[in-house]
This record gives sequence, structure tokens and C-alpha cells, in this order.
Amino acid sequence: MPLPIAHGLVGAIVVALGRPQGTLNRDWHVLLLGSVFAISPDFDFFLIQGLHFGRGLHRGFSHSILAAFIVTASMLAVLGISHLRNVLALGAAFLSHGLLDFLTTKRGGGVELLWPFLRERFKLGLIGFSEFPVGFSLKEVIKASLIELVVFVPILLAVLLIRELVFRSLNSKRKAQSNDSVKPTMI
Ligand SMILES: [Zn+2]
Repeated sequence: MPLPIAHGLVGAIVVALGRPQGTLNRDWHVLLLGSVFAISPDFDFFLIQGLHFGRGLHRGFSHSILAAFIVTASMLAVLGISHLRNVLALGAAFLSHGLLDFLTTKRGGGVELLWPFLRERFKLGLIGFSEFPVGFSLKEVIKASLIELVVFVPILLAVLLIRELVFRSLNSKRKAQSNDSVKPTMI
């Protein structure tokens, strides 16, 4: 059960990959939004706590591929096709939540990835990530949070660094091309 730290970092990584020519200076707010989108499927906890839905709701529809599709289609309807790249990146960040839970769940209940077509809960079970078999304790949560930071922060930094280098190299090529085009031709 990855914590919001892992989901948020993965969301930012997904958005950064979806905007390969972006730079942190120009699109930090989109990356931040990607983190929020990637965390948001766990907001089903609010429905369970606040509106007293059963605990079975957790990892249900909000973690499904269909929910990610609905979120993406709704954003596209509101923002329009001119924002397609950002909308797809944010939709992918939302989808990353259910997929990360699926990939990293060993002991806990799986994810209703194919809701409502299949109510089965899926989990890959290869590794158990941030799972708390004997209940939450502050010490365990801090330990899991630190592990998530150590695993995902370097990946995010590497992606951001590569993007920055790609941007600089494209920029210098563009500048060189525009300088060439304004040079007076010698006869
Ligand atoms: Zn979740």
C-alpha cells in the first residue's frame, strides 16, 4: 500500500515523461498537479470515513482504469483539445495510482482495476511495498515514507535532469538554426 509520498512522486514522474520538452521552471505547477492527481484515488477514504461507506469501497472504482478514463475525458471536455498533452499526462498520473497499488501489493487486498466489468481485486504480489501487516505505527509509517523517498526521488530527479538537458540541447540547436537563417548571404 504505497503512501501518498510514492504516489505523488510517481505522478510527477509520469507528467514529466509526458512533457519531454518541459523544464522545471516552466511546468512545476503541472508536475505538482500530477502529484495531486496521482494521490487522489485514495480520497475514497473520505467517502468511507465521512459518509460511512463500507471499507470495501477502498481500492474500488477510484482505482480502476475506467475512473482514469472518465477523469481524462472530463478534463478534455472542459479544457479542450488544445490542452491534450497536459490532459493525457494528468490522466496517466491518475491511472498510475491503481497500477502502482497493483504492482506493489503482496499481502493486502488488491485493486479493482477492471471495475465495473470485473469486481475481482488484482495484485501482482511480486513485492510488498509499504505494507503494514501488524497495523499502523508512527515508526513504521516514518520508515516506509523514508524508503519511498529513497526509491522515487532519485528517479524523479533523473527524469527532470534528462528533460533539462534535452531542452537545452534543442534550444541551442534552434538558436544556431535561427542565427544561420539571418546571416547575410555572401555573393
Ligand atoms: Zn490506493
